[in-house]
Amino acid sequence: MEVDSILLAKETEICKNCLNVVVGKGNLNADILFVGEAPGRNEDEQGLPFVGAAGKNLDKLLANVGLSLDDIYVTNILKCRPPENRDPLDEEIEKHAGWLLKQISEIKPKIVCSLGNYATKFFLSGGNVGGMKDQPGITSVHGKVRIVEINGVKIKLIPLFHPAAIIYNRSLIGEWEKDMEVVKGEVSQRGLF
Ligand code: URA
Repeated sequence: MEVDSILLAKETEICKNCLNVVVGKGNLNADILFVGEAPGRNEDEQGLPFVGAAGKNLDKLLANVGLSLDDIYVTNILKCRPPENRDPLDEEIEKHAGWLLKQISEIKPKIVCSLGNYATKFFLSGGNVGGMKDQPGITSVHGKVRIVEINGVKIKLIPLFHPAAIIYNRSLIGEWEKDMEVVKGEVSQRGLF
């Protein structure tokens, strides 16, 4: 019997205790899917991803390269806020990953951009939580195109610096813009593979 990925995620304690389940925002027909780590306090309160300081910076970074929420869809690995923004637990990632894969299968983006170390290591490990710690950090993989496979779903991945990191290190803005040119180049190609 097929396990309902949404019900599985909702079984986790973080989903029982959060104010809102944060599914995503943007254009469901977009070619580019951005994936962050987990909702924070503002996201939990408003029920939308990337609406706090990192989100405001993401809006600016997108505008700098001529994009908006009309061109992308944004979600997180975890759909509910971990208390005090602690790191996601392995069991939480395992139970929430199915929901993310369902979104990827439905949106069918040409490109998935993982935002920051956490989401990047999740995809690079092929969704194998135990393998995340062995993956390279964002500094060495950002802007590089890779094909990863999770549960039989093939994904064209381009890791990007997390917009929260760029608030504190403005020198990363140029890198982010160069990486987005790579994203746009891939999106302009015809097929996914
Ligand atoms: N950081 C994330 O990774 N996701 C959010 O939704 C907000 C901040």
